[in-house]
Amino acid sequence: MRVSFFIAFGTIRFMHYIDIHNEIRNWYRRNGRDELPWRQTDDPYKIYISEMMLQQTQVKTVLERYYFPFLKRFPTLQSVAEASLDEVLYAWQGLGYYRRARYIHETAKIAAPDLPTDVESLVKLPGIGQSTAHAVAVFSTHAPVAVLDANVKRILYRFFAKERTTPKELWQMADTLLDREHPYEYNQAMMDIGAMVCLPKAPKCDTCPLSSRCQGKEDPLKYPAKKAKKSRKSVVTHYLWIEKAEKILMIKRHGELLGGLYELPAVEVAPEGLKPIAQIVHDYTHFRRIAKIYRLENDAVEGEWIEKKRLDEIAVSSLEKKIFKALGIGD
Ligand code: SF4
Repeated sequence: MRVSFFIAFGTIRFMHYIDIHNEIRNWYRRNGRDELPWRQTDDPYKIYISEMMLQQTQVKTVLERYYFPFLKRFPTLQSVAEASLDEVLYAWQGLGYYRRARYIHETAKIAAPDLPTDVESLVKLPGIGQSTAHAVAVFSTHAPVAVLDANVKRILYRFFAKERTTPKELWQMADTLLDREHPYEYNQAMMDIGAMVCLPKAPKCDTCPLSSRCQGKEDPLKYPAKKAKKSRKSVVTHYLWIEKAEKILMIKRHGELLGGLYELPAVEVAPEGLKPIAQIVHDYTHFRRIAKIYRLENDAVEGEWIEKKRLDEIAVSSLEKKIFKALGIGD
């Protein structure tokens, strides 16, 4: 009884949006970003790497600076599994959110030589959430599941005229609208419509393939309701530049945020009587770091001595790169 009800409901649901599905598919054929390299492969590993990179980084940046060099260095999941975490972090440097690189390394150690392509196995791997699992499954095997990135979420809020919702409801909305007959094109199209048409500040409803049924198109900026802006906190950190015989003292970090990367030693209080030799402002998502750098002769601090000429061979965060640059080291 339950099974037949589900089938009946599923059929009604599919029929309900068939006109929209056709519009979306036609739009995708005319406007879709087919040229993106991760859309020209069904290799789950390459799709997975693109998804991990795109979680916090814009398409343009990933495309121009990170996707190809990373895959050149690590062409397969097996090659990641055989590498050290330091090597993976080195290839990831500059992309930020280094936890993603650690997850890729952990995932490779567990799953190599091949990444699974079914959602159930994928979500058991470190750092693979439901949306990433769905993306790998649908883009490598055309599994009938919905991808829910930030752009798609915005479309759903507007399409169903929801000011607020819960993650569970969002998944239900994504599942309701999904084109199960053509999940690959549908999902790629939704991501593109979110990036090119249903824009955060200036949605182009006139050219949107969802507009005939969009419940929020009269006042799209109302959806989703804006969150109160939190002011970004500033944190001052004092870094030490300790140099001896063309070597610099660095410390390897542990922990979630930047674990595995090297950084300059930091102290809570500015060294007495010293003026900073450089000052850098670096913005993170939730706070701003003001880094003051002091040259110190004292080498009583524990750490690793890295040759100055090798500083570009170790994995460091974007902040350290900025500091090196300010001090005339590297590009
Ligand atoms: S009609 Fe407008 S608000 Fe609705 S999904 Fe399209 S662009 Fe967004």
